[in-house]
Amino acid sequence: MEKKCSKCKQIFDESNFEKDNHIKSGLASQCRSCKKLYMKDFYQKNKNKYYQDYRQKNREKILKMGKEWRDRNKLKCSVYSKDYHEIHPQYHKKYNNSIKAWVVRSFCGHKKRGFVVDISVNDLIERAENTNECPRCGVKFDWKNGRHLKNWQMPCIACLTHNQTLTLENIEIICKKCNTQQNNDSLEEFFSYCRQFINLYKEHPLIKK
Ligand SMILES: [Zn+2]
Ligand SMILES: [Zn+2]
Repeated sequence: MEKKCSKCKQIFDESNFEKDNHIKSGLASQCRSCKKLYMKDFYQKNKNKYYQDYRQKNREKILKMGKEWRDRNKLKCSVYSKDYHEIHPQYHKKYNNSIKAWVVRSFCGHKKRGFVVDISVNDLIERAENTNECPRCGVKFDWKNGRHLKNWQMPCIACLTHNQTLTLENIEIICKKCNTQQNNDSLEEFFSYCRQFINLYKEHPLIKK
């Protein structure tokens, strides 16, 4: 038996048509090669959507698989990142000096010390971009060359309250020196501490000045 393809209008032997139970005749209306082209085209047009849908539905699974793969292939990963580092030294340098890297490092440091971070990375980046100097002592922050600042001029996040939660409202970006002096006290405590000192050394020539 022969059959005409609805697409290319050529006549082929029935063996050149796929079986299709949804159709009365039991055979697909398009010949095998037309059907193949159609599927390929359909896939190309929709592959992003399928990919995204798949990723969304299987997010946990994919993350887990990725982690398992990296655990099994630690050597490969480390070699890859080392190679990448050597091929793109600028990339790491640029990233490490970026405000984003500073934000991520600061968040990590605070989390390690038991803080809860209730600020998004982008919000802190914005705050940092608008903070050009230490509000306490006035030392200028050089965000562009973050890594090359003198150590004590490094910007730090100071939490102004005792609740161990960083929010945009209760933090200040101050230099490392001021942060070290403030220790873990709130701003009020720090000021009263300074006042104590001033009272104690009232007669000192430096204070009298
Ligand atoms: Zn055809
Ligand atoms: Zn300062």
